Amino acid sequence: MTSQPVLTDREPATTNVRPLHVPAPASRIDLAAAERAAADLLHALGIGTDTESLRGTPERMARAYAELFTPPAFDLTTFDNDEGYDELVLARDIPLRSVCEHHLLPFVGVAHVGYLPGARIVGLSKLARVVTHFASRPQVQERLTKQIAALLQSELAPKGVGVVIEAEHTCMSLRGVRAPGARTVTSALLGRLRTDPSSRAEFLYLARRRQGWSA
Ligand SMILES: [Zn+2]
Repeated sequence: MTSQPVLTDREPATTNVRPLHVPAPASRIDLAAAERAAADLLHALGIGTDTESLRGTPERMARAYAELFTPPAFDLTTFDNDEGYDELVLARDIPLRSVCEHHLLPFVGVAHVGYLPGARIVGLSKLARVVTHFASRPQVQERLTKQIAALLQSELAPKGVGVVIEAEHTCMSLRGVRAPGARTVTSALLGRLRTDPSSRAEFLYLARRRQGWSA
């Protein structure tokens, strides 16, 4: 447990670069239809839209959800691990916002994403991009956690991948059981971070060390 994770965002200088372009999905968003549906929903809930303040609300709702459900495109550029770095690389407290697909209410928290490099490494900002990419759609936290781990596993072929997400679901804190502050924690561990007890312990120790969000 003595080694420290690399927390720089410098991309290594090397010649063998392999970019993976992760495109934004072809937009199937029909803003005008979403706006009409939002107005219908508000009216069905007994909320009129004839005041000055509410007149633009259906349009704002449509735009807000369209933004939440449009993942930005990005390049997941990986590099040869020329220097043979074989310790844990961890990006902790990556801000996360997504929308629960059961209630269409937001959940907000942080992701800790780490890997044990194999033949390839990746710029750390890309770990945050992967989180944002999969969070930008209706989600359940368990699936989101697994999708982030699976993409890194397939693109980096590392010796291990670990993802921990801690989030507060407003469908739990604002309604239903009304448990504000309750956080849901999910993890996905692959490779040596799953099977090797000391690697697993090191990852979980570093990922859970309280700092920053809701310390
Ligand atoms: Zn929910």
